[in-house]
Amino acid sequence: MLKTLSEKDIQRYAHQIILKNIGLDGQKKLLMSKVFILGMGGLGSPVSMYLTSAGIGTLGIADYDKVELSNLQRQVLFDQKSINKSKVEVAKKKLLLINPKLKINIYKKKIIKQNIDNILKSYDVIVDGSDNFETKYLINESCVRNKKTLVSAALRGFEAQITTIKGWIKSKNNPCYRCMFPKINQDNYKTDYQDCGIVGGIAGIAGSLQSVEVIKDILGIGKNSVGKLIILDLLLNRFKEIKFKKNKKCPICN
Ligand SMILES: [Zn+2]
Repeated sequence: MLKTLSEKDIQRYAHQIILKNIGLDGQKKLLMSKVFILGMGGLGSPVSMYLTSAGIGTLGIADYDKVELSNLQRQVLFDQKSINKSKVEVAKKKLLLINPKLKINIYKKKIIKQNIDNILKSYDVIVDGSDNFETKYLINESCVRNKKTLVSAALRGFEAQITTIKGWIKSKNNPCYRCMFPKINQDNYKTDYQDCGIVGGIAGIAGSLQSVEVIKDILGIGKNSVGKLIILDLLLNRFKEIKFKKNKKCPICN
């Protein structure tokens, strides 16, 4: 545990430290914590910016893509000058401008079955910023194996979905991502999140929600969204919560 915070740190995080659920001890915990974000797109941009601002001590960010013009509509970490540059390299630079004392590890490669466990092991909480079922399944499996909290989100049109997953806790009936979404059917594949249109602000909302879930999980405060899928439909201003239980036949978490 960090012993003290510098004068500058106390100023920087004053609006969090003043909260009775966070305080000085909570801020120290955040500074000691390590969060991994898979995907630096529409979700990864806001999540990484808010977690950086909040003082998450170590951030791992993974993406093998380069910035494209069509990303700028929602991936607010990037600008005109970022085009054709590596997303994680640009992101690291920008995030360090926000908060230079943090440690940012970049992974400029595809996260696959063969490397995911090794990477995830060094982090406390994992954020899913991916846009396809294949990656979501991969990251879920690794989180269950390595007993990591996974904060997942998905975007479609005017709709954001978010859930927190602790699928390895057997006694509590917690579902994993695969319990909640058991099959990738042909339809799903055709409409993988990456092929859907999206309003930029929706990505911002979902990413912001993810960042708050991460902070609550690290500090062990408030109510999380384990076992619940929170759906925000902002075209019609409807907010739904769907409850899920562990699937006793789930091939991943049983
Ligand atoms: Zn499961």
